[in-house]
Amino acid sequence: MPELPEVETVRRGLVPAMERKRILQADVRRPDLRWPLPERMAERLTGARVERLRRRSKYILADLDIGETLIIHLGMSGRMTVSGLAEAYVPGEFHHAHPLTLKHDHVVFDMEGGARVTFNDARRFGAMDLIDTARAEEHPLLAALGPEPLGNAFNADLLAARLKGRKGPIKALLLDQKLVAGLGNIYVCEALHRAGIHPERAGGRIGRARIELLAVTIRQVLQEAIEAGGSSLRDYRQADGELGYFQHTFRAYDREGAPCPTAGCDGTIRRIVQGGRSTYFCPRCQR
Ligand SMILES: [Zn+2]
Repeated sequence: MPELPEVETVRRGLVPAMERKRILQADVRRPDLRWPLPERMAERLTGARVERLRRRSKYILADLDIGETLIIHLGMSGRMTVSGLAEAYVPGEFHHAHPLTLKHDHVVFDMEGGARVTFNDARRFGAMDLIDTARAEEHPLLAALGPEPLGNAFNADLLAARLKGRKGPIKALLLDQKLVAGLGNIYVCEALHRAGIHPERAGGRIGRARIELLAVTIRQVLQEAIEAGGSSLRDYRQADGELGYFQHTFRAYDREGAPCPTAGCDGTIRRIVQGGRSTYFCPRCQR
């Protein structure tokens, strides 16, 4: 399931294909994904110009010159591919060759400039919607989201205020999208490991200095993953043009039984289950 850094990598990969470009043709090949697609979606999008591609949590928002915003959510298995933008990835080999449309290619945009953007989603947990740009933040998918972890509003003061008095385990609190938006299982495990905070510790029982460290490590793990995704875009040579998945190096996540990588710690990474999901942590240096 794509997390915030993967979605940001997809957004960055779509920018050269879509931003400040008109959608010459929108092909909507089925009436629904997770929910019904907007009425007359192909008709409304065809001819519209994408003014800006931005991200809110794990949603990509395309602001259009028709006063509407296209909201895209990749869900569990949604993938975006770009073809026909060869000059961005393979210098000197510009051509408009597009692969054949596949079974689960549900939405296809042919863009001004020659790129084709395809949304493929075998399991159809993804979603798209069209909403007035001025009211985009009020959309049911976006309205309850907390602050962006990489935005200016997210800092130690805010985190301290939101954790105050909370009895739930910090792992679960950080996964709550109302507390902070866009954090998923992987990066919560990584941030807690770096901050030396035990995932079962009650949120309200973390001291100020450690909350400050946690606010920093949350930003660090996301920024580093976004940078790794950025280098995967620069190295782009995959024929299928798929965006957003790249090689990660994790310190704790999915490393059960491995030695803890924290300097001076001789602990071993353990796995426990919290709220039905695996947590990876070091019982020695996470307190
Ligand atoms: Zn350790």
